[in-house]
Amino acid sequence: MKDRAPALYNLTLAEIEALLREWRQPAYRARQIYRQLYVNLAASPREMSDLPAALRERLTKEVLFSTLQFERTQSGDGGMTRKALFRVEDGPPVESVLMIYRDRATVCVSTQSGCAMGCSFCASGRMGFRLNLTAGQMIEQVLWAARETRTILASDRTLLTNVVYMGMGEPFNNYDRWWASVERLHDPEGFNFGARHFTVSTVGIVPGIRRLAKEKLPVNLAVSLHAPDDELRSRLVPVNKKYPVAVLMEAVRDYTEATGRRVSFEYVLLQGVNDQPGRALGLARLLKRGPGLALCHVNLIPWNPVPGEPLKPSERRRVLDFQDVLRERHVPCTLRTQRGLDIAAACGQLAGDAKKT
Ligand code: SF4
Repeated sequence: MKDRAPALYNLTLAEIEALLREWRQPAYRARQIYRQLYVNLAASPREMSDLPAALRERLTKEVLFSTLQFERTQSGDGGMTRKALFRVEDGPPVESVLMIYRDRATVCVSTQSGCAMGCSFCASGRMGFRLNLTAGQMIEQVLWAARETRTILASDRTLLTNVVYMGMGEPFNNYDRWWASVERLHDPEGFNFGARHFTVSTVGIVPGIRRLAKEKLPVNLAVSLHAPDDELRSRLVPVNKKYPVAVLMEAVRDYTEATGRRVSFEYVLLQGVNDQPGRALGLARLLKRGPGLALCHVNLIPWNPVPGEPLKPSERRRVLDFQDVLRERHVPCTLRTQRGLDIAAACGQLAGDAKKT
């Protein structure tokens, strides 16, 4: 029965209603289930205490609840960073990272297991592509983080404030499912997560940026740039050969004109590779010509080591010099604080236990 069973987190409220009609249940039961999933954060049908026992049993037998198998959590930064490892059907790994700060809690969600984009500095890229996650599997990661924040902060409210799709994978290579997860988590009848609290990060998939510009929900866009010129960017981010810097910038400019929303540019700093003052100047010029400085923000990210990778993170002095050049040219920029280094949960380090696949 379970082989063809629907996965509950893949279903919209209307689809749960249709399922319950087939089961000849009263219509209001669907809303009860939906609230249990997205408001009470029930982790299994057994926890849905307002449902009749027979219905809970049928749900247990005839629908799939969680399709990500939880394997373990690691804790770093004094317990304020948690990395979860899940698996899809005992195989491909999926990692999610929860970062708790004084005033906010952010979960970094994976959209694929592994990644086909092959960025040279990234552990997920070195793993290669394993599979596209379903919308439900992305949602499950967010609900894991929501439950964790409740436990860690000993609250009965959901204290998660930001969802960033920056884990394993390129979200725009799995666009439909990624967007379905955003819409579901945003649904005011359920998890009710504000659209402006989502951020999606792309390595520069131009059709995805153009599509996002037409969506109704104003989620934030981050572009992983890492170099201002084609020669270097194509070495660091191979997809640049398909969507070169000028084409990418044109799409970003069109996006900012259409939406009026600011775009973040991610820039991982690699010693002697992309951290020279000349590159900072090139970056400032590029952004000025592209989206304009009023609608962009640069996130400088000290590179996080990946085992077996000869690249080195930029020394502190070089990072600050790079930042100074940008500031002198009035480019809004911040230096990202490093989180999760001790548990390989920082940016670009997610690869799970890739051997077991
Ligand atoms: S940086 Fe992003 S797009 Fe590039 S390989 Fe890693 S996960 Fe994929």
